Amino acid sequence: KFKKGRVVHTMGWPLGRNAGGGSFIYHFENNQVLVGFVVHLNYENPYLYPYAEFQRFKHHPMVAELLEGAKRVAYGARAISEGGWQSMPQLSFAGGVLLGCSAGMVNVPRIKGNHNAMISGIEAAEAAAAALKAGREGDRLETYDAAVRGGAIARDLKKVRNVKPIWSRLGLWPSLVLGGFDMWVANLTGRNPLGTWKHGKTDAQATGKAGDFEPIDYPRPDGKLSFDRLTNVAFSFTNHEESQPSHLKLKDPSVPIDVNLPDYAEPAQRYCPAGVYEVIEEGGKPRFQINFQNCVHCKTCDIKDPSQNIVWTTPQGGDGPNYPNM
Ligand code: SF4
Repeated sequence: KFKKGRVVHTMGWPLGRNAGGGSFIYHFENNQVLVGFVVHLNYENPYLYPYAEFQRFKHHPMVAELLEGAKRVAYGARAISEGGWQSMPQLSFAGGVLLGCSAGMVNVPRIKGNHNAMISGIEAAEAAAAALKAGREGDRLETYDAAVRGGAIARDLKKVRNVKPIWSRLGLWPSLVLGGFDMWVANLTGRNPLGTWKHGKTDAQATGKAGDFEPIDYPRPDGKLSFDRLTNVAFSFTNHEESQPSHLKLKDPSVPIDVNLPDYAEPAQRYCPAGVYEVIEEGGKPRFQINFQNCVHCKTCDIKDPSQNIVWTTPQGGDGPNYPNM
């Protein structure tokens, strides 16, 4: 069934109206297929479980037929910065720069960011080489910032800048029509007729109260196409030395149980793709547990926690996931 170079992208299913998103299936090499599912983190229903949506996706007849008889060899997760042109921060700071996806250079409708990542690397290297030649060190590479904002990356991202905000605000179909029109005119004329849309709320603010939504009943994994979260985490080959302090910090340790649990059914239990966060019963009371050893460094908790109470910090010694072929 493997067809080297085949690319399949899908939109929507099985998310329905619960969230924006879609999938990618890349027939890679060595008889390996990369299957991924993207869920926009501005979803409202705190019961949504992105990991379980992905497992459901694999049971679509088209995907199930492809994966039947296949063997799982790796698992991972990552937050994609989809803010685009209007969300790019200052790109240089004393002694460093932000490149590619770390600065949000992904082109959302093209579902592609590596072209801009490579160009940003080239621009940064040229700016650094010029600075070294001039005897500078440890200062800001302003010329890198300027090169990105005035060059090929800007031309690529400006044209598509309204697609994601329209999708977030009005849904999939209006974004296909309106966003498509805006992109089409921008391609022809170099100007976006819809100006620049703002994204509106942050992903954390978009999270609704549990009382306003129904829990979602997800099917149990079958162990062939779909798997439980913790077995999959083993395939990320993540490792954090147990004795180190947790790299996942809570600004206020009481918030998960006192605020997030009653208001949002503590969504960290579901949005984390590695099962790091658990609410367990202890002495008849709920307790928030952080299994930091499982973390695959996707950064979703830092972004999506409705109380903005979780801070992801760098763990010691380069610990983390070890993706062999992703
Ligand atoms: S703890 Fe946070 S960064 Fe780590 S896997 Fe879970 S959501 Fe991602």
